[in-house]
Amino acid sequence: MKSYHSTRNKKLTASFHEAVLNGIAPDGGLYVKDNLQDAKINLDEMIHYTYQQTAEKVLSFMMDDFTPEQIKECITNAYGSQWSHKQIAPVIKAGDVNILELFHGPTSAFKDIALQMLPQMISQSLKMEPDHKNILILTATSGDTGKAALEGFKDVDGLSICVFYPDGLVSQVQKQQMVTTTGNNTKVVALKGNFDDAQRTVKVSFADKELNETAFNHNIQFSSANSINIGRLCPQIVYYFDSYLQMVRNNEITLGDEVNFVVPTGNFGNILAGYYAKKMGLPVHKLICASNHNNVLNDFFTTGTYDRNRALKKTISPSMDILVSSNLERLLYEFSESDETTASWMKELNENGLYQIDQDTLLKMQDIFYSGYCKDEDCAAWIKEVYEKDNYVMDPHTACGYKVLKDYIDKTNDKHKCILLSTASPFKFCKDVLSSITNKVPEDEWQCMNELEKISAHSAPVQLQLKDAPVLHDTLLALDEVKDMLTVMISEGTL
Ligand SMILES: *Cc1c(COP(=O)(O)O)cnc(C)c1O
Repeated sequence: MKSYHSTRNKKLTASFHEAVLNGIAPDGGLYVKDNLQDAKINLDEMIHYTYQQTAEKVLSFMMDDFTPEQIKECITNAYGSQWSHKQIAPVIKAGDVNILELFHGPTSAFKDIALQMLPQMISQSLKMEPDHKNILILTATSGDTGKAALEGFKDVDGLSICVFYPDGLVSQVQKQQMVTTTGNNTKVVALKGNFDDAQRTVKVSFADKELNETAFNHNIQFSSANSINIGRLCPQIVYYFDSYLQMVRNNEITLGDEVNFVVPTGNFGNILAGYYAKKMGLPVHKLICASNHNNVLNDFFTTGTYDRNRALKKTISPSMDILVSSNLERLLYEFSESDETTASWMKELNENGLYQIDQDTLLKMQDIFYSGYCKDEDCAAWIKEVYEKDNYVMDPHTACGYKVLKDYIDKTNDKHKCILLSTASPFKFCKDVLSSITNKVPEDEWQCMNELEKISAHSAPVQLQLKDAPVLHDTLLALDEVKDMLTVMISEGTL
């Protein structure tokens, strides 16, 4: 059942498992599915579903060439005891705002939702290919995604993973999270260079002929855990449904009422999953897109012009410091309903760094999407205010969403209930959170963690309390030593 195809060419079709294994379509487009409105998800009968049951319902439609047993196995492995909250993603209340906490997974950030699931999907997909190879994931990280990928891929059948990070350029906690990773198929390497160097080194390795030959001879194929993989997007649709059902159970809304979702956005994956949920029948009024000071998306939703020709600003919400939101391509396809039009905009983006959509398409988008952005000083001010007023500590990404939510209500007076997606634990960004609230900020991050525990009256998630955890990875390499290391690792089968 080849129900997926490229955003740039409808004739380039794939089944779900092929789309997961390919990652990106052969023409550079992203895989999409056309019949989302046929999902037939009956909320009535799901009121008392657990997160896992809702996942089964939603994902059976998306993973349409998997057997029910395969889907169940993926879900059981992805959303089990590695989550510190039994509801997986609880909706809690801070003052009058409903907050969907997506950070109770093994790395305390929302990427766990997708990255606990993707490796399960890849592992099952491999079993569906007659003479498949084992997969070696190579990833460069500026801090957060690398650890989430390591936790997702560790000890999964047929897969192994090697993560590269720039030496000295990730935070103390991020480094400790990575170098203490267990698992018999994980490798973490510090590189002498910056993040761009690390990324380039991974790209060069992917393209290296000798290295690929060595891998082929040892029954290994390279792959990436890229955020544009359809397998990362699908699991994110689930929490839109699940949080809606929680809102009904909490008597915040009545079944059938429309709600708004406010989403701190970078690569546009999270909020796109919300749009998919709406298309699949979830009663959604507005999707509110919150950017940080890198406000490319806000400009796009306001003017219809996407322009990446600007300097990247470093902010205190680093996971949203992005100039090209790759998953936006899927939205362009949805609204233009044309593979050719999508392909031409993407060509312009590639060649000139900018494209302009037509007025009609823009108006249709504005009907559903509201957008806004948040500068660092506002972000810090809202962290402090919500802490003081509601005794709730937000991480900086969530705070960007909070600010845009407040702007939206001030501006529109919309009475629909809003759900704010919280994408990280504040303990993951101790220093910036603490300095938003007080001016007593220790230099050492572990001390910051202790301080934040004191003022928030919560303990830090156990998976972040790693100060004294044993270091299991201490490889430090120059960029030109990576090829040799990979060759040895592959030949000797040490991963
Ligand atoms: C990745 C990330 C985001 C942005 O999500 P997208 O799917 O890229 O829009 C927001 N907050 C945190 C903490 C993240 O790690």
